[in-house]
Amino acid sequence: MKTSRLRTKITITLLGVTVLTALFVCITSYIIFSRFMYEQAGSIGLESAKYNAEKIETWGREKIASLERTAAHIESLEDFEIYNIQKMLQDAIKADTSFYSVFIGLENGQLIDGHGWIPAEKYDATERPWYQIAQEANKATFTTVYIDKNKGEMVTSITVPIKLGEMKGVLAANIPIENILRQVNRIQYGKTGYGILLDKSANIIAHPNKEYAMQPFENVYQGRQEEWFEKIQSNVRGVENIFQNGEKQLLVYSIIPSSNWRLLLFAPMTEFKGPVNKMLVYLVIITLACLAGMMILGFFLSKSMSQPIEKIIEYVSKFAKGDLTEDVEIVSSDELGVLSGELNKMRKNLIHMIQEVQNESDLLQKNAKKLVNFVDEISNGVIEFIASLSHDIKTPLTLIKGYAKGVQVGIIKDPEKVQAYLEGIYYRAEEIENITSDILDCTYEIKKSLILKKEYIAIETIAENFFQLAKLQIESSDRIFIKKLKVRKVKLHIDQIKLMRVWNNLIDNAIKYSPKKSEITISIQQCNNRYIAFSIQDRGIGMKGDEIEKVFDMFYRVKDSSIKGYGIGLTICKTIVEAHEGHIVVESQYEFGSTFTFYIPFCH
Ligand code: ADP
Repeated sequence: MKTSRLRTKITITLLGVTVLTALFVCITSYIIFSRFMYEQAGSIGLESAKYNAEKIETWGREKIASLERTAAHIESLEDFEIYNIQKMLQDAIKADTSFYSVFIGLENGQLIDGHGWIPAEKYDATERPWYQIAQEANKATFTTVYIDKNKGEMVTSITVPIKLGEMKGVLAANIPIENILRQVNRIQYGKTGYGILLDKSANIIAHPNKEYAMQPFENVYQGRQEEWFEKIQSNVRGVENIFQNGEKQLLVYSIIPSSNWRLLLFAPMTEFKGPVNKMLVYLVIITLACLAGMMILGFFLSKSMSQPIEKIIEYVSKFAKGDLTEDVEIVSSDELGVLSGELNKMRKNLIHMIQEVQNESDLLQKNAKKLVNFVDEISNGVIEFIASLSHDIKTPLTLIKGYAKGVQVGIIKDPEKVQAYLEGIYYRAEEIENITSDILDCTYEIKKSLILKKEYIAIETIAENFFQLAKLQIESSDRIFIKKLKVRKVKLHIDQIKLMRVWNNLIDNAIKYSPKKSEITISIQQCNNRYIAFSIQDRGIGMKGDEIEKVFDMFYRVKDSSIKGYGIGLTICKTIVEAHEGHIVVESQYEFGSTFTFYIPFCH
């Protein structure tokens, strides 16, 4: 579940990055390409405007040059006979067929026409606009365009200042501009783009829609107030983005210097969007293909990335369930490889730790079992101890009760018998006292054995005292006393009375658990240059293996033993020996006898 989420995440991230990149590329390409296209369209338009303007300019210059040549010829005449002048004017019409009338206006108001036309009497050439414009400019000039009434055509006039001797005048020619209009109408800009021609007063000369001819530009086009209008008036040529008739348009313009006319080309911006839109379609197709590719790539990439992770998760969940049997199998040198290596180390450590915990728990279980057995045995020992103590006390008590009853009831009259009964009571009471004081002593010893009254005593003295006591005890109980002594002259720092109690106890046991006439070997020997070993060996009943290790436990008694005892003697012995920084051991063979040895360190 988690891993599939990881896959989805990787795929979605890749797709997201691709979509964002694709969007970025599409938008920026679209913007850059659009700009480039508009720039291209602008410069193509500008080239076209320039070319056509130059063509019109050349045409104008030719007309001016032709007229100036005629003016020069006329000025070079020696006498200004009207006839001759008229002839020259006719020659000029012949030389340039586009001149359909050539005439001269003189400062005296006279008009000389190439076709011989004679104006009305009141006619004054100096009052005509063409005359005034030419005088004002004092150079070859185009007049404004007008419609010739006779021809019904659009016509312009070229005027050149002239001198006939002392008299100033103006040589003028009327030229129809039909071919210029055709040229302008032929201009193509984009698909629906068109050209228009303005005269120097910003009146429309040429327009695809003939109705606009001779109309002021601002009547047809809104925008006179706009910045671009000023620019086309003042600049030689340029490109402008304008908003006209509710749409964005590209406007390209160029001046025709000789006539001060202006050629304007208009085209809607949308005309040039075609290639951009085409490019956008290609871009979208490429983007979609990239997206599909990325989806496939993302799927495989996410799979290849998530597969080792999935495997690791599989192994880790196995570990979590406690299955540590297998190593994580990822063979790669990247971070995942390192992770698997660390997981394998963790697995080995876990196995080791589990093993250790297992061992500890086994040990704990074993010890707990031992403790339970030990507590069991102790409680059994306590029960046995109480039973045996009660029994030992009850017998003399019963006897005491019997003696007392006899004396009390008065059935025994004989004073000697009474005396014997009283002695019996005393003897039994003493027996009880012995038992209780023995037990009291024992428990007292266990509690107080650590409080020792130590003194330095020579080993010979100790050996003499110990052997004397042993000999008396052993021989008085009808056993054979054997003695061994092998010591150097050393001193022991001991509480002799307490060690004597240990000695006494061990000899008592040797006697208790061995038959009459058997040997009891007593030895005192130096051992290991550190200890003196005190040893009591009997040829008695011995002990079985499992019993040997328990004999020093309090209240422990070998089961089914018919020999009396409370099971605390050896505990006292061990306590006293250990208080002397020594230790006590037993070697025993069932039915062959036992050897108790305690080791006490000596002084150097
Ligand atoms: P008890 O008063 O029962 O003798 P001990 O503490 O002296 O108590 O001894 C504990 C037990 O060790 C005895 O019950 C006996 O079974 C065993 N034991 C001690 N000494 C000997 C020995 N010399 N030979 C065989 N068994 C012995």
